[in-house]
Amino acid sequence: MDDKVLSCVNCGSHSCKERDDRFPNFCPTVEFDDERVGVIVDALKTDETLKNIALTSAEVEGQFYGKLSRVEETIEYIKRGGYKNIGIATCIGLINETRTLMKIFDRYGVNSYAVCCKVGGVDKSDIGVPDEHKLNRGKEHETMCNPILQAKVLEERQTDFNIIMGLCVGHDSLFSMHSKAPVTTLVVKDRVLAHNPVAALYTSDTIYSRFK
Ligand code: SF4
Repeated sequence: MDDKVLSCVNCGSHSCKERDDRFPNFCPTVEFDDERVGVIVDALKTDETLKNIALTSAEVEGQFYGKLSRVEETIEYIKRGGYKNIGIATCIGLINETRTLMKIFDRYGVNSYAVCCKVGGVDKSDIGVPDEHKLNRGKEHETMCNPILQAKVLEERQTDFNIIMGLCVGHDSLFSMHSKAPVTTLVVKDRVLAHNPVAALYTSDTIYSRFK
């Protein structure tokens, strides 16, 4: 670690959590003085969109900590945040899970609309993906994922809160960058570990020791 800039993973105190003044000298809490932090706090108190997100997420965390699954927490968040029209940007590989989610939403009175990653049907060649980087190695048409179009479709549907269901790494970035509505992720894609990427970290001393 000698040549690396120290960060929060190198901290032994985690003093930011209790605010007990044992901050290490590389601590970003010390680096960002009260004035700069104050700008953020002011924004969270005055900007209605930010305020709603911050207070609603704190409310769900505070009331249901360790009691609800992420699906249930998402429903609570939607209801308490006052969102009326939920957009879902789904991977085509998770379309069945998205269908199940929407049935659950229906049961809870949550209105939702889903758009699949392959929307638009644009061939990967159209954006310059070389044949050797296609799943079919260029033998025939291969539709690219189009997260920007997913974001545009949901914007046209005037969704006020969007959910990512298993978009690929990077495609989720494009979607988040272009979504008009706030975004949360319900499912993170991991094609090997049943969409549970943290399993590779939990088992990094055993099965996934190849990381070392
Ligand atoms: S913010 Fe500061 S006190 Fe908190 S974990 Fe990071 S280095 Fe430690």
